[in-house]
Amino acid sequence: MGPPGAGKGTQAAVIAELLGVPHISTGDIFRANVSQGTPLGIEARKYMDAGEYVPDGVTNAMVRDRLAADDCAPGFLLDGYPRTVEQVGELTAMLGSSAQRLDAVLELTVDVDEVVARLVRRAAEQGRSDDTEDVIRRRLEVYFEQTAPLIELYRTQGLLVQVDGLGEVSDVTGRIVAALALES
Ligand code: AMP
Repeated sequence: MGPPGAGKGTQAAVIAELLGVPHISTGDIFRANVSQGTPLGIEARKYMDAGEYVPDGVTNAMVRDRLAADDCAPGFLLDGYPRTVEQVGELTAMLGSSAQRLDAVLELTVDVDEVVARLVRRAAEQGRSDDTEDVIRRRLEVYFEQTAPLIELYRTQGLLVQVDGLGEVSDVTGRIVAALALES
C-alpha cells in the first residue's frame, strides 16, 4: 500500500521475483486490457483517466479470477489491491475459501510533494494518460479518502509493515527485505 507514486509497482516486481511468487498488479491488468481494447479495458479506462477507482464489482471479479489460477496456489503478491473497504471484505472471503491468508501488508510511506514530483516525471517518461496534473491530484485525494483508512484496519490485525519509500530503488528494496524478514 501507499499513495500513487510511492513506488509500489517497482518494488512489488522486485519483491515478487525474490519471493518467487506472481506479482499481481490490478493497475497493470487494467492497463493491459485498455491497450488490448477489451470490454473490461473500455469500462476501466473511463475511471482510470479521471483518477477514480474502477468499481469494486469489476475489480473484485478480476482479482477473484486471477487468484484462482494455479500459479497463485503457493502464494502471490498483490500490488494495488485491496484499495477500498469493500475490496478488503472480498479479499478476506476469497482467501478464506482457498484456506490462504495474508502474511503481511506492506505500506511504503512517502512525502506527498515527492510523490507528485515522481508522478509528473513518470508522466513525461511513460506517457500514462492518468498522470496529468489534475488527475494526479484526484488520484491522491481518492487514495487518502478510500485507501489510507485500510492501513489502520490492517494495523489492528497485526499485519502492517511500514517502510520508508523515499530514496534509491535498491535502498528501499533493502529496507523491505529487512522488514519482511523481521516479520517472518
Ligand atoms: P495503479 O497502477 O495501481 O496506480 O492503478 C492505476 C488505476 O487503475 C487506478 O488509479 C484505478 O483507476 C485503477 N485501479 C487499480 N487498482 C484498483 C483497485 N484495487 N480498485 C479500483 N481501481 C483500481
